[in-house]
Amino acid sequence: MSEKKYNPYDNMLAVLKQSAEMLGLKYEDYATLCYPERELIVSIPVKMDNGEMKVFEGYRVQHNSSRGPYKGGIRFHQDSNLDEAKALAAWMSFKCAVVNIPYGGAKGCIKVDPRELSRDELIRLTRRYTMRILPLIGPDQDIPAPDVNTNGEVMGWIMDTYSMFKGHSVPGVVTGKPIEIGGSIGRTEATGRGVTIVTYEYLKHAGLDADKMTYAIQGMGNVGGTAAKILYESGKKVIAVSDWSGAVYKEDGLNIDEIAAFLADKKNCLKNYQADGVSHITNDELLTCKCDVLIPAALENQITADNAERIQARVIIEAANGPTSVEADEILNRRGIPVVPDILANAGGVVVSYFEWVQNIQSMAWDLDEVNRTLEKIMLKAYNDVETMAKDKNSSMRMGAYMVAINRICTAGRLRGGPISMA
Ligand code: GLU
Repeated sequence: MSEKKYNPYDNMLAVLKQSAEMLGLKYEDYATLCYPERELIVSIPVKMDNGEMKVFEGYRVQHNSSRGPYKGGIRFHQDSNLDEAKALAAWMSFKCAVVNIPYGGAKGCIKVDPRELSRDELIRLTRRYTMRILPLIGPDQDIPAPDVNTNGEVMGWIMDTYSMFKGHSVPGVVTGKPIEIGGSIGRTEATGRGVTIVTYEYLKHAGLDADKMTYAIQGMGNVGGTAAKILYESGKKVIAVSDWSGAVYKEDGLNIDEIAAFLADKKNCLKNYQADGVSHITNDELLTCKCDVLIPAALENQITADNAERIQARVIIEAANGPTSVEADEILNRRGIPVVPDILANAGGVVVSYFEWVQNIQSMAWDLDEVNRTLEKIMLKAYNDVETMAKDKNSSMRMGAYMVAINRICTAGRLRGGPISMA
């Protein structure tokens, strides 16, 4: 491997620094963004079903609160660590600023492979983690949501644990809840839907016909799976998709409905999917296959110096957080392959989280049409803000998005008196 060991927080800092300099900021103007405001490491003892005691490690990092309460998901993953949580928290601050919703950024992780735990063990893990981070969270303080390997059900457990401690029901403490207990219609699909909105907008601006494009999607989780489904249902050709076990490819388009139905049974994985004309390819082959639109929708650090030279897509839409390393970004820039960055492309989830929080505060429920219409309006406005900034500064869309975000966060910080005036 030519690259030094990937650290997502260093990756975030490199992009932050570059974009702040492009904006003409001095270090003291954006220094606060280089450090999370708060980092909490917790130990989570769990009694396993066999009676054994295991202690897991978890984190909640609050990056910035200049623009409002902290906001960001909770991830369960065996490779999670503090630096990942710090990077993801910073990306949430930037994401909320790009789409201009009144939040700061946070993220939580538990270092665990949830596939190895029973449902009862997962409930105990989630409840104990919630108790550990309880002093930090709340509807006016910090509002968690789903992320990799967590979902509405997990949010229900967090909401219940928090409410037990408060002595009354507090639905607004988390978003992405099941609809029956205060969740918003359209939230589960929102990130994937947002990804398709910015994809179409990019193609329109590039003068390309979305109906004639081919799409390759890395990851068939909530985000990749929903994006694939929306594209497929509107007649687009999705030629490759993958999950943790491998990838499948069909030149004239996969049957996404059939694949989604197959994967709905959690015992199945793509490695075992068989259908006429479908071949099995590796993750690397998916990322470098001949397609028009490449949508990485899995984890960080997937497009790297090792494969960026070989990518054949016309555009990359970052549905995951941080899928492209700084080194890969330079290569793609040089090769003229545009990247619609994560903090814009995947912001649909947190936008509908915001709608959910607003509905909870008002004890109201919107209908799907209102959710999707308002989501589209916000995503298109953000796209336009980013594009205008990128044109003004003659930069990539990533730099444009960061400059929009940093500008808004730093302005908010200044208007509140700034850290310097507190000395
Ligand atoms: N985990 C999602 C993200 O990375 C959603 C966060 C939220 O809704 O707060 O954007």
